[in-house]
Order: sequence, then C-alpha cells, then structure tokens
Amino acid sequence: MIIKNMYKVKEIFRSIQGEGFHSGKNAVFIRFSGCNLWNGIKKFRKKAICNFCDTDFVGINGENGGEYKLDDLIKKTVEIWERGKSHHEKFVVLTGGEPLLQVDEKLIKQLKNKNFYIAVETNGTIKTKLKFDWIVVSPKENANWNLKNGDELKVVYPQNKINLKKVLDLKFKYFFLQPMANEFKQLNVMKTINYCKSHKPWFPSFQIHKSLGIS
Ligand code: SF4
Repeated sequence: MIIKNMYKVKEIFRSIQGEGFHSGKNAVFIRFSGCNLWNGIKKFRKKAICNFCDTDFVGINGENGGEYKLDDLIKKTVEIWERGKSHHEKFVVLTGGEPLLQVDEKLIKQLKNKNFYIAVETNGTIKTKLKFDWIVVSPKENANWNLKNGDELKVVYPQNKINLKKVLDLKFKYFFLQPMANEFKQLNVMKTINYCKSHKPWFPSFQIHKSLGIS
C-alpha cells in the first residue's frame, strides 16, 4: 500500500549507469517499490504479465530504502550524489519496479530545483506528461504498451510478440536490444549481437554494471 504523500522506495544508491545511452555515467538511482506487471513474488512469476524480471523491487528494505516524504527524498538524493565526485551534471535515474506508479510533478520539480538531469526507466504501460530529461521505455510483450515515444527504446530480447521492424516507426532517438537475463542468457547475447549486426539502427545494450559486479 502506498501511504498518502509518501514515496515507497526499495533502495537509493550511487553507481554507474551500466546500460543504454548513458552507460558509464555516474548517477543516483532511486528504485521505487512495486510494479504493475508482477508482484515480485517468485511463486507468482510464471503467471505474471512480465515473467523475466531480474530486479528485486519488493518492499523498502534495500540500501537507503524506506517510505519518504518529498523533502526527505530530495535531501537523501542530494546527500548520496555528494558522496562521490563527478565531472558531469547531477544525474538521477528513477527506476523500479515501475516508477511511474509513484513519480509525480512535485518530485520532478524539486529534483530540477536541485539541478538534477532526470532519467526515468519505465515499462511503458503508463502514459506520462511529466517533464523528464530522458525517457527509457522497455516494453513487455504481454502488457499494454501505452507510452510510445521517448528518448531510448530498450527491448529485452527475444520477445517474439514485439515486432522490431514496426517499432522503428515510433518516436525514439535510440533503439537498444538487451539480451534477456534468463537461463538462456549466453544464447540471447549471441542472438542480440547477430540481430543488431544486420538490422540498423538496433544497437546492443549489455548490463555492464553486472559484469563489473556493481549494483
Ligand atoms: S516490468 Fe520491469 S520491473 Fe516490472 S516485473 Fe517486468 S522487468 Fe520487472
């Protein structure tokens, strides 16, 4: 349950973006708790709309997790950013779970007031008019896909019901294919590379942070 005026956050940490266009950049990651495509409980995974998730977004028990009032969430985000050095602008990635279940205008405004460049990573089921600086949409083949424009389209591959030729007509600046991290991961890596070789502008996105053993 989301307590009124509180953001339910699984974890907040500073790390390096390991996938997609902003790979290699330092960022504060705010992982919001909860998703509308799976409840995060393993025994319900097979019946979930999205069943290849590799992220723990359940509860508020991660690093710096908790139920935050707006001001406290901003304060914590700034504090975590200031723990490290960086040569580029302040960067925050709003992720999940599904962040658009919770992110609102007040949060965006306050982050902007603190001069953050704001990226969101969403499954695309929820339309938004919020003014993000960077929108990453990662659609799931069995879910309703409603947010069909943004900066980066990241398709976890393979998902046979997503037509990779047709989606190139959508308004995105970059098109990334990311191998599905399931029991066939190595095979999926090869398939991803092979597809991208012969289908521009698709470009492979690997979860480099995982290879480096960082969050
Ligand atoms: S939509 Fe994203 S966060 Fe939700 S279950 Fe699927 S992969 Fe996990």
